[in-house]
Amino acid sequence: MHYAGYLCDGEAWQDFANERGLRLIEDAAHAAGVGRPGVYGDAAVFSFFGNKNMTTAEGGMVIARDEEVHERIRQMRGHGMTLGTMERLSAHSLDYDVTTLGYNYRMDELRAAIGLVQLRSLKRWNKKREMLTGAYRRYLREYCPEVAVPFSTPHPSAHHIMPVLLPDRTDRDLVVGCMREAGVQTSMHYPPIHRFSWYRSRFPSVSLPNTEEFCRRELTLPLHPKLEERDVEWIACALAEALRR
Ligand SMILES: *Cc1c(COP(=O)(O)O)cnc(C)c1O
Repeated sequence: MHYAGYLCDGEAWQDFANERGLRLIEDAAHAAGVGRPGVYGDAAVFSFFGNKNMTTAEGGMVIARDEEVHERIRQMRGHGMTLGTMERLSAHSLDYDVTTLGYNYRMDELRAAIGLVQLRSLKRWNKKREMLTGAYRRYLREYCPEVAVPFSTPHPSAHHIMPVLLPDRTDRDLVVGCMREAGVQTSMHYPPIHRFSWYRSRFPSVSLPNTEEFCRRELTLPLHPKLEERDVEWIACALAEALRR
């Protein structure tokens, strides 16, 4: 997963997967418009949900390098049918087969049309996000140097979200409450997967101390192209004030 939009080390993950005979699937939901997701993995999956860098309201996209994998995905998204409506039309054939378990995951034309319009702005929006992230780094260093901002070295990113790490032993719920009072919505990315009941019931003994500590201290600050630098400064001040309280 290209967390927060920062491209992860593709080669390292490729080695990890190869050594273990695993397929590598990139979760590129945060990485629309940066680098070339899908280069390292067997496939890359994008989300165009309403809160992503570009959206079709709901929906997404899968890319795959291998022609056979690609064809398999194509078939699975359309009920496992060998031919879609358009293909039957052009092949002058009424007949089709179902050769695998399938789903209805097709993107409709209306969403695709929205996506094409969104795509035109993606580069510009990502640039704005990059500028805002830079501003966050400066103002956070100035107003609350005790807050850590991950991925500090220059790192290719779509700047999807603005995660920060609060100082150890901070009561995050209190900080969230103060921020809400100040009119700033915050969130958390993410509750660790291995802590969810569904996974717990299957893998009860998994313990991931780094993940758990990161999650305990993580706070996501607002980041979207309609923010301005003065908003970022104001949010950094609000966070400093919340930490003081
Ligand atoms: C949004 C998101 C998803 C899910 O995308 P959907 O379009 O809702 O299926 C998966 N992974 C990450 C990292 C996301 O941000």
